Amino acid sequence: MANQWRGVIREYYDRLNWSDSDPVVTLGEGGTPLIDAPALATLLDVGEVYLKFEGMNPTGSFKDRGMTTAVSRALGRGAKAVVAASTGNTSAAAAAYATKAGMQSVVLVPSGKIAYGKLSQAIAHKAQILQVKGNFDDCLRIARELDEKYPVFLVNSVNPDRLQGQKTASFEIVDVLGKQPDLHAMPLGNAGNISAYHLGYTEEIKEGRISKFPKLWGVQAEGAAPFIKGAPVQKPETIATAIRIGNPASWDLAQQAKKETEGNFAFASDKELLWMHRFLSQECGVFVEPSSAAGAAGLLKHKKLGDLPKVDTVVITVTGHGLKDPDWALKDEKGRKIRPKRVNANAASVASSLGLEKS
Ligand SMILES: *Cc1c(COP(=O)(O)O)cnc(C)c1O
Repeated sequence: MANQWRGVIREYYDRLNWSDSDPVVTLGEGGTPLIDAPALATLLDVGEVYLKFEGMNPTGSFKDRGMTTAVSRALGRGAKAVVAASTGNTSAAAAAYATKAGMQSVVLVPSGKIAYGKLSQAIAHKAQILQVKGNFDDCLRIARELDEKYPVFLVNSVNPDRLQGQKTASFEIVDVLGKQPDLHAMPLGNAGNISAYHLGYTEEIKEGRISKFPKLWGVQAEGAAPFIKGAPVQKPETIATAIRIGNPASWDLAQQAKKETEGNFAFASDKELLWMHRFLSQECGVFVEPSSAAGAAGLLKHKKLGDLPKVDTVVITVTGHGLKDPDWALKDEKGRKIRPKRVNANAASVASSLGLEKS
């Protein structure tokens, strides 16, 4: 096992204040690739773009980074069960890490709004799943109350152990680039991720590994954009289920991240998200879930508005894997279902369907 990536706790042991007696529950999360995306750099008219592909984590989203630390700490405190409110990916991660730790997981998901792949993960890892007749914000409120009054540990990103694990993505970016990007964009939902990146970059500056912040951009879906509106949104609506959140828990931390890094909040419509989702898979070779296209979609919107800052190196975090919510890839721009053409089982028939002529 000497050459294997050891998961974010063991890789960043000293920077997470871990001691030898603290348990480590890991599935080998982190160490995700920064993938160069020249097609996107051309589209945005910037020097270079790298996609931090968090879909490469064990359960297919960045949530694993925070779940390794949150579940490990919960285990260290004697927890038997963890609870999470989730739009899907948190429940998938909580269920997997709880199982690895030998714990029970309880997940609360909003009824009818969870992507198929994510639900199957929570079930596969034997979470106790309850569909709450309400939205994500209702689920989080209930999960917090359970944590207060019952013997279960909350592992949502309001648990500070989550941000500790998630901040390691900043370390990896600086490790790989050897510098900070000029601008770093990502989707913005409950705002745990942008807060964690801010924390990570703050520590990199303190350690003297970089001298300034990248501008942090958080991009929301138009129908779920409380940071743009400046107030909670009662009935958030978007096809991007992972960021369908009206009342973000880490509101103040996200405001601070934007201010200190001279960053920005932006938004994109569902149509713009789906366009970028398709561009990333068709032009960059990176298949993400629709929510994960938000960072790039928000930058493109501002490029078109003419107010994208002049920058050279851009990192965009693409937060979750396309297989989580694959139905979107099976539809064309007009929403029509794409079906493979049926052909007879001989080369001539296949060649004629492809429009090939004999060479
Ligand atoms: C959780 C999640 C987000 C939103 O992250 P926040 O920390 O809630 O802002 C975005 N994309 C995906 C795929 C997610 O799972």
